[in-house]
Amino acid sequence: MAEIISDYFSPGWRERAVECPCGWSGASRGMRMELQETVTDYACAQCDATLLIVAHPDLDLVRRAAAAGNEEARMQLEIVEEAHRHFGPSESAPD
Ligand SMILES: [Zn+2]
Repeated sequence: MAEIISDYFSPGWRERAVECPCGWSGASRGMRMELQETVTDYACAQCDATLLIVAHPDLDLVRRAAAAGNEEARMQLEIVEEAHRHFGPSESAPD
């Protein structure tokens, strides 16, 4: 059964080894990654069962994580703000 990671910036999920019922076990980098619209699925490298479902962070989550000192969030926020300067805010864009 897949584990859902609702907070992208929560520490440890990338490095944590997950055991698949088929006997394979490993961390996210060893899994098959599939980008969906609102989440990224990580599937077993051996049998393709979905092991992790990671929700994409929304801007609010990125801002809060950046404020809390998360380095990756800070960099993402910089990219978003840079894009806003060039193309204008995209808050009103449809999801
Ligand atoms: Zn498996």
